[in-house]
Amino acid sequence: MTDSSTRDGFNTSRRDFLKFGGLAAAGTTLGAAAGAGFVLGRDPDANVGWGRTEAGKDMFFNRKPFEVDHAPTLEIVGPVERPEWSDFLFNRYPVIGQAIMDGWNPNNGWETIEDERVREYYSRHPDRWPEMLQAFVEMDRRSQHRGKHRDRFALAWAYGNAYDKGLMTANFPPVPYEHPDVDDFKWVKGEPAKFKSPAHASKLVKQMAFKFGMSIVGITKLDHSFVFKNMMRMGGSNRNWGDEVPKHWKNIIVFGAPMNWDPMYAAAGYSTSYDAYFRARMATGLMTAWLGELGYAGRPQWPGRDYEVILPPIAIQAGMGEASRNGCLMTPELGPNIRLAAVITNLDLEPDKPVNLHMREFCEECKICADACPSGSISQADKPDDVVRGYKKFKFNQDSCFRFWSTAPTDNGKGCRICIAVCPYTRKNNWIHTVVKEMDPRDPSGITRKALLAMQHNFFYYPEAEAYHPDWTGGNFAGYHEPPEWLRTENYLDVEKTWEYDGNWEGF
Ligand code: SF4
Ligand code: SF4
Repeated sequence: MTDSSTRDGFNTSRRDFLKFGGLAAAGTTLGAAAGAGFVLGRDPDANVGWGRTEAGKDMFFNRKPFEVDHAPTLEIVGPVERPEWSDFLFNRYPVIGQAIMDGWNPNNGWETIEDERVREYYSRHPDRWPEMLQAFVEMDRRSQHRGKHRDRFALAWAYGNAYDKGLMTANFPPVPYEHPDVDDFKWVKGEPAKFKSPAHASKLVKQMAFKFGMSIVGITKLDHSFVFKNMMRMGGSNRNWGDEVPKHWKNIIVFGAPMNWDPMYAAAGYSTSYDAYFRARMATGLMTAWLGELGYAGRPQWPGRDYEVILPPIAIQAGMGEASRNGCLMTPELGPNIRLAAVITNLDLEPDKPVNLHMREFCEECKICADACPSGSISQADKPDDVVRGYKKFKFNQDSCFRFWSTAPTDNGKGCRICIAVCPYTRKNNWIHTVVKEMDPRDPSGITRKALLAMQHNFFYYPEAEAYHPDWTGGNFAGYHEPPEWLRTENYLDVEKTWEYDGNWEGF
């Protein structure tokens, strides 16, 4: 068990904390709150999500009092640059894999790979190359061991793979094929319908995003500094339009949905991102088709790989939330449990403003995700310790993160999500969480934050980071939560249960 309360700003062990007379009383209160939270967490209505947007207006956080002109977690401290093709891990990893299959020996070093874009990336991040190399070793190791655990994980793998099949075989919306000046207009019918004002257009577009199954939506002008270089999608013959951002890419509607909460809490082995990816992809198609019916262009961007823009900072500009220590967008309603998609359009829209919810201060004190990360990919620094393309942020090693994905006991190593599961912001929609998310941004003293973190550290169990590993790399398949009953094979399949679960009880 990790006693992660020992750190700057809250330097007590669990036992010491309970010894303090005054704090013991606070502990009783917090314990009662934790108990109430537990009971409420059992209520299916506590699930914030894509299915509740019509009836669940109570889940929305009023951002208005926190609007600012510039997002505090998008602080510019150097020259701003557009991202390179190779900055996206899922561009360079398949190229490296293909080179290995073609006979290239990765032990000769990144300097010897033919693809100059991959060489350019690792010339900027040479420390990350051993992690990528190890990822391929881990993939091989996993393929040797994985089958032995099918009795335990069969239902989780089936759940994730059902959505994977849906994503891989869907042709909706179709991948852009022609130049954006053509492709983005392919569903446009007639002259553009005239909206009463950009504000009316924004209001309706947001309602439509909810009706298309999304949980949070924001709108902003497209900032070209978040458009990848050399990454325009197309399958047709005309590939030569360079890096120019099309003129009709004016505004971007960005939205997202959470991963199903209970499998996500049981990351890594029982979780998948594909449920949320699937819903988000479908929403981009529906939104693009809806815009086309009204005479406007639409360029869909969907997870996990079909992006031409980097969405988390765009979502921050659109006021959906702030940047978190673990490299995600963190929202008040869903925490970092949100998978993003977007539609770029030429429709005139009223943009949202960014917000300051003091999430950076929360992340500076919290560090729970960094303690839990089984690959050590998340910075433990007290303050943001990196500059990426001109923006100040916490250091994050995407190659070592991917190395753990390749180790993780999911089917085919599709992700991890532990840093999302353990985050105190990733919590269901009950009154305790509502109170905390309303109070913390309004509390300049930081007492709310400290009390919440004390509760997290003292009343919830955190497996050691190593325990999240599979047994073939020294772990025991731990999760922040035990899996939900519908993913426990022993409840439904004729299997012999030979394992114990390591995690908080699924009801929390
Ligand atoms: S996804 Fe897993 S390995 Fe990657 S940063 Fe999060 S906890 Fe670490
Ligand atoms: S776990 Fe803590 S430090 Fe990590 S993203 Fe969540 S709030 Fe921030």
